[in-house]
Amino acid sequence: MHPIITCFLLIVTLPAFGQKTAYPSLDQFVGYYDVGVRPNRPFFKSRWYLKEGKLFTIYDSDIDRAFVPYVDGAPATTVFFSEEEVEITDTDSTYYLVLNFEDDQLESFRVIRPRSEWPTDLYGYRNEALNELAIHTEEALSNRTETEHFIFEYSDIDTMLIPDVASKLEVNYSSLIEQFGLEDFPKTTIRIYPNLETYHNAVLTPGAPQWQMGRAWDTNEIRMLSTVVAKEIMGEIDDTAELILHEFIHCIHLSMIPDTQNPVGWLWEGIATYKGCCKWINSPYEHKGLKKRKKITLKSIDKDRTFELKYVLGYFLIEYIEQTFGWDSVLDLIRTNGDIAQSLGLSVKDFERDFNDYLAQNY
Ligand SMILES: [Zn+2]
Repeated sequence: MHPIITCFLLIVTLPAFGQKTAYPSLDQFVGYYDVGVRPNRPFFKSRWYLKEGKLFTIYDSDIDRAFVPYVDGAPATTVFFSEEEVEITDTDSTYYLVLNFEDDQLESFRVIRPRSEWPTDLYGYRNEALNELAIHTEEALSNRTETEHFIFEYSDIDTMLIPDVASKLEVNYSSLIEQFGLEDFPKTTIRIYPNLETYHNAVLTPGAPQWQMGRAWDTNEIRMLSTVVAKEIMGEIDDTAELILHEFIHCIHLSMIPDTQNPVGWLWEGIATYKGCCKWINSPYEHKGLKKRKKITLKSIDKDRTFELKYVLGYFLIEYIEQTFGWDSVLDLIRTNGDIAQSLGLSVKDFERDFNDYLAQNY
């Protein structure tokens, strides 16, 4: 999922001290919340947790942010404890938070976002079943290695892998950045979690299927399961550096499209498998669903319930586009988020016909 709420600024820099007992304590804020942009229509999650006695919040694709609800023992000026209290006189870039406590815990909240930046507010509702999981997921990542372009945070089980992984990534870095036409790409943090539950918790998808083991969290952060553990689950996996390279291409891709857009699936996985890792098969017709040489459409890739076609055919789509239109057209397609007509100058129908011809001739 592409960033829904980057720039979620709710940081009050002064430390909380001397707060009156009349206000809820920080542990009463802790929990998982189902969040949406309309009341009672949640579609993603937020985790509020304590780290070294301080409160932090995290939303999908965002960074972990400190939240200090009290200043000098009173609620911060951006915080209200009921809808009736809400008094907003300026509509600048300030974010306000309305909190609704029931039975000694935060039950729901509303983030009032500046209308100049967002058309809607955010509405969060406690997910009682996930109370236990609202923890600081980076606690086990006690090791840190920093190289020229990457920061690795990981637990003890991955210590042995890091030097080799880091040097492989650094070797590929400059060439990749250049190929994508970028100059300054900020350092990328790679957080590697020691078990599946912690990883799923870290990416706010508790209980996700076990094949979900890594993702580009944001333009400059990758979150993934330890490949030592992934190997135990899967039996065999690709080289760790190659897997990270795949996610790093996603980071580059994200940096090239507006925050408000969800990347097009075949382009998203196509670029990452083509330039990063890993080509699944040598011919698209080796894939079980494609043996009959049935006409492949972009829509059929999009609608594939196994999600496999995005990877399998995405690779060959990018190969075809590069060979026929040139690499610059691939870059242009990223920038237009897959707009075939605009970037390649032909209709989707004609593009699909030519792509099928290409596959039939070459594979
Ligand atoms: Zn991917």
